[in-house]
Amino acid sequence: MAQRNGSRRRKRKSAKRLGLILLLELLLLIILAGSYYMISRNKKNNNDPGKVVDNTQDENDNTEDNNSDGGKKDNEEENLSPEELEALQEQERILKEIAEREELIEEAEKLTLSYDYDGAIEMIKGYQGKEGGYEVYPALVNAIKDLEAKKESLVLYGGSYTSVTQFNHIFFHSLVADNSKAFDGDYDSKGYNMYMTTIYEFEKMMQSMYEDGYVLVSVHDLAKQVTDENGKTKFVPGEIYLPPGKKPFVLSQDDVNYYDYMQGDGFASRIVIGEDGKPTCEMVLDDGSVVQGPFDIVPILDAFVEEHPDFSYKGAKGILALTGYEGALGYRTNDPTSPTYEQDRETVKEVARVLKENGWEFASHSWGHRNMLEKSFQFIKNDTERWLEEVGSLVGDTDILIFPYGVDIETTMGHYSSDKYHFLKEAGFNYFHGVDSKPWMHLKDDYVRMTRRPLDGQAMLQFPERLQDLFNLEEIIDPERPSRDW
Ligand SMILES: [Zn+2]
Repeated sequence: MAQRNGSRRRKRKSAKRLGLILLLELLLLIILAGSYYMISRNKKNNNDPGKVVDNTQDENDNTEDNNSDGGKKDNEEENLSPEELEALQEQERILKEIAEREELIEEAEKLTLSYDYDGAIEMIKGYQGKEGGYEVYPALVNAIKDLEAKKESLVLYGGSYTSVTQFNHIFFHSLVADNSKAFDGDYDSKGYNMYMTTIYEFEKMMQSMYEDGYVLVSVHDLAKQVTDENGKTKFVPGEIYLPPGKKPFVLSQDDVNYYDYMQGDGFASRIVIGEDGKPTCEMVLDDGSVVQGPFDIVPILDAFVEEHPDFSYKGAKGILALTGYEGALGYRTNDPTSPTYEQDRETVKEVARVLKENGWEFASHSWGHRNMLEKSFQFIKNDTERWLEEVGSLVGDTDILIFPYGVDIETTMGHYSSDKYHFLKEAGFNYFHGVDSKPWMHLKDDYVRMTRRPLDGQAMLQFPERLQDLFNLEEIIDPERPSRDW
């Protein structure tokens, strides 16, 4: 009995102790939960993750707050238990990752300014967080849904054309940067009046085309080489999707060599990389001093597209066609005896690299700028090999050939069949460009043949009716341009 009593007493005593322990533990839990609540409330403040997803401004504000009271935070952390610290760090990680995903969505949306929805979606799908891939993060899944919906609203070729063969390909020579020098009445003024376009006119043309919905595309997006199941390659029309009303077009510039004969006539003298890392031009003034500025198409169009990214499909700019007999891009890399020969070769390589990064492509305009229809097979073979060796080795491989004077290697309206064609194809060329007054194109299994429309003085003054579909020439023609003098 006494034993039973003792055991009952012990039981009662231990039940009491258990209750006390439970009470203490509960108290401790309340204190812990309370302090955690205070900390997390402090952290959360205007930073509810559900809200943050749509509100980057809040997030930025919060980041600044965190930075500004970093000292206070350290003190707080010192007073935390390991568990609390861990919870805090976890919370911080989550917030950091939310911000990361926010940034990723913003980066992806930038691509859509130039219609690269596939690239944007791909970018988001490449995300890998601690919890898993993009599919476990609602913000990313929603962003993709949103991008896919917008992509759905795009139409093939902007609905403006039914075939890539209807696209315009326009071309220019070096722009006249100083009208008073180009049109000074000396022996080459007439040539400049016929074949050149002034900066004033180029800027008006781009503005007008932009307002009309034109969008720069690369010939490599216009026609793509695909390989079938048998390993056979062929060219097929590119699938360029744009908002309704947009009109894809290609731009090129010939003879981007800044020839000696143009010196002192108001043209750029070469392309350089400016202090901001972007391509720009140099021009030599009368007193021999050199100034940098937007004196030709490259820096002018780059700035225009920077301001209007929707003027370019996937960042495309234009094709720069180079001859070789006076070097490239204004550097006399044709002359091994030049004291700056090696240095100029390195500079051209670097300038070409930056130009390509900025959406520009290169074409051969032949080495010696001769009529390729009239010249013999052997001449064209030697000339092409020389271009590849002296220019191609600097600007890199290209499969674009722009015929000198716009004169094709063949007059056929069928399939190219000459030895010249087979040689050029073998040398790596796939895109062949002549000149015509309106869009014309052949898309064959083994090559693309596309003519280009000149937008020069001759077209504006002598054949204005040919440009009616593109411009209201009254608004385009430079008031400083002489009237037709040929
Ligand atoms: Zn030319």
